[in-house]
Amino acid sequence: MEKPGRREGRRIVLVLYPFQGHINPMLQLGTMLCSRGFSITVVHPEFNSPDTSKHPDFTFISVEDCLIDEPGDSMTFLSTLNANFQSSFRRLLEQMMKREAENSVVCIVFDVLMYFAQSIAADFKIPAIGVRTTSAASALAFFTYGGNPSRDPRLEGQDTELNFLTKDLPALDLKARNDATLKAQAEVMHSMGQAMRSSTAIIINTMDSLEQTSLAKLRECFSIPIFAAGSFHKYAPESSSSLLKEDTNCISWLNEQAPKSVIYVSFGSIAKTTKNQFLEIAWGLADCALPFLWVVRPGSVEGCEWIEGLPGGFNEMVKERGRIVKWAPQKEVLAHSAVGGFWSHCGWNSTLESICEGIPMLCRPFNAEQCLNARCLCHMWKVGIELENELERGAIKKATRKLMVDNDGKGTRERMLAFKKAAEICVEKEAGLNELIHFLFSL
Ligand code: UDP
Repeated sequence: MEKPGRREGRRIVLVLYPFQGHINPMLQLGTMLCSRGFSITVVHPEFNSPDTSKHPDFTFISVEDCLIDEPGDSMTFLSTLNANFQSSFRRLLEQMMKREAENSVVCIVFDVLMYFAQSIAADFKIPAIGVRTTSAASALAFFTYGGNPSRDPRLEGQDTELNFLTKDLPALDLKARNDATLKAQAEVMHSMGQAMRSSTAIIINTMDSLEQTSLAKLRECFSIPIFAAGSFHKYAPESSSSLLKEDTNCISWLNEQAPKSVIYVSFGSIAKTTKNQFLEIAWGLADCALPFLWVVRPGSVEGCEWIEGLPGGFNEMVKERGRIVKWAPQKEVLAHSAVGGFWSHCGWNSTLESICEGIPMLCRPFNAEQCLNARCLCHMWKVGIELENELERGAIKKATRKLMVDNDGKGTRERMLAFKKAAEICVEKEAGLNELIHFLFSL
């Protein structure tokens, strides 16, 4: 049912990429746009379908994705999904345009990983706006060399800051690669770059207060508007789009803990650990003598269903001091007064959620883009402590205590509080969001 005041004539079609770290920000963005008077239609693949009951204001359309297997290699998955989705999406848009003569589609807002949407929107002469669910710095890194394989600034030595941020990323010597995965990677990078360059505008889930320099550089590279409209989750506080069931009992447990005493540990929705890393984490948390809330997703420890690989005697040792859950209501956890630190894989959503609550981070990135986020957190903003090298219980104990209680972590904790204040001001002003809304009404 439409909410009173909704402009019936202004519909936005959101195209989702079906993973948690993408679904959350896209549906948060949809919630924001809905609250500003737009009608929202969410188009998504069958794979990892969102729970429609959590978003009664949206119209959801599931599109046949013809995916046979679970995603193995992410690049091949991406390229297959984009290829499979095209004709169904085209048909869907045709039907919508006929049906919605009076309730016109203002624009297609697509996750840039669903790059096929841009060219189809262009065929229908509908504006297409790309959404980067990652940071402006990673968008910049992507554009500067990923979206344009002929240019790699690390090789040219043109931008020292970018070189520093991207030094963990694999070099993109695309010509030298010829196996199927690398071909898929080259194709995906090229198509994403092309789709972004041809979009009507780009929305980034970031804040001017956080990424002013990267945003300025991005705007220099582009002739289209770039909106820093984040942090999306702060504009949609009630919105939950978890694919896994959130264990809310952990909030009652947090209620019993002292202020700022608990370290929250979560590596997001995709990262996996080896059994040995899992054991080192367990002993590190036991040895640090701090209360902890640890998210272990089922299947996230190689060779285990869940936590059956925990060392004998672990539970007795940590007793009531530790809590392990399969999935947490993370935004609520980070906003809880008992939480004083976040050991994270540095996914961009987790990064923004932590910054907005002023929770200093222990950073252990798992993949390339997370390495870039960790670099920003630990070396540029200095609001995180990096946990490098092999995971080892002694190093974990030392790093968690530095983050949470030791004197040498005080600066990190204080800086993160200053970042929280800056984020609050940015979110309150709604400058990026207002610019975006103004632009959407001008289409
Ligand atoms: N999340 C959650 N509960 C958990 C772990 C994660 O709700 O127990 C949410 C988290 O709040 C974030 C998203 O899942 O919005 C993970 O996105 P992120 O970009 O941090 O990492 P990814 O999962 O994409 O690696």
